[in-house]
Amino acid sequence: METKNDESTSSEKTIFDAIAQGDLTEFSNILTQHKGDVNFFDENGMTALQHAAYKGNKDMVQLLLDRGADVNSGKHEYNYTALHFGALSGSSEVCKLLLDAGAKPTATNSVGRTSAQMAAFVGNHHTVATINNYIPRSEIEYYSIPQGLQQEPYLPPILVDPVHKFVLGVNIHPVRLALNLQHAPALLENADKASKTLEMLSKREMTRGSETNEVMAFKYHYLSYILREIHNIKDKQKPSEKEEKKHDVVEIFAKKLLKPGKDGVSLDLMDSFLKDCVREFPFRECTTFHQMVTALTSKDPPTALSVINCTINGQRGFLDAIPYCSSCGEEKPAKKCSKCKSVQYCDRECQRLHWFVHKKACNRESSAPAPTVNSKINIDANELSSELQNLIAG
Ligand SMILES: [Zn+2]
Ligand SMILES: [Zn+2]
Repeated sequence: METKNDESTSSEKTIFDAIAQGDLTEFSNILTQHKGDVNFFDENGMTALQHAAYKGNKDMVQLLLDRGADVNSGKHEYNYTALHFGALSGSSEVCKLLLDAGAKPTATNSVGRTSAQMAAFVGNHHTVATINNYIPRSEIEYYSIPQGLQQEPYLPPILVDPVHKFVLGVNIHPVRLALNLQHAPALLENADKASKTLEMLSKREMTRGSETNEVMAFKYHYLSYILREIHNIKDKQKPSEKEEKKHDVVEIFAKKLLKPGKDGVSLDLMDSFLKDCVREFPFRECTTFHQMVTALTSKDPPTALSVINCTINGQRGFLDAIPYCSSCGEEKPAKKCSKCKSVQYCDRECQRLHWFVHKKACNRESSAPAPTVNSKINIDANELSSELQNLIAG
């Protein structure tokens, strides 16, 4: 007996060591050889899963979950869960894996903080949004099963995963949502059914009594509204156009929203489209709706997009001094316009979509001498920070 205990203790220790060193191959090998379950503790009452989560190592987290690691197990003295550690690591992917495996976002540590609150505390905003936007797959799946006398469910079962993915997305910029649909042809094809299902989810979210999540209800409504608009564009196409240009629905939608207003800069069409979305939210008694309307009707109102983004993703809007994709609002995009270097994009697709707007400014920018911070008059703090960011990045 004693030798066996020693053996398993040493195997447990090598697992903790491999996690600490971040050596995935070694870790995977030891885990394969390890007999017995993986819910053992180190001297601080932490499980291997908690250590891997704290390291933000999604591959190790996945391997441990595959081996039956319990997401809600732990004897940490401050009651941290694996999700708390994942949140602190700043890896949204790790958090997503843990949530999929049943981690409880409402669990609090010994000072009463949830994992999302801990993530906010250390400035991991994307992780906060990932946790707060999370809903279990079963919520969507419910509508893919015929209810009562229904012959057919509201949602075809093949759409459960694409709709779930669509709902979990953190970037709610309408152009990004539309672009994501290009990779989900079944969802694009059935946008009307998905839109109706999302509206039902919104209603269900509002009728949960004390469990009601107004923000999630609004998010469902918002996503439903976007899908409905895309469906309407598709519906108006002539049959001949439909055959040849399937992807063009996304392009028509995106270009409509990115088209600048009279001043050549502000996105008036997007703004009125999104204001209509807020206006159509059926639950007008709720606090969330009142807050949005107050913001939109204030003296110097922010854009509807930033109001909606603040509502869904917390205080942080598309306002910070972080570079954004000019097409779809994605943070820290990988590419710059190679000609003028003054705008950034995720990829060629985003750049191509935005060219009809950017081409004028691009010619102007690239023929003018390179702008310096000093040459600008009336520069505001946000602009200045983003200039500095670009200088550092460039
Ligand atoms: Zn983009
Ligand atoms: Zn350019």
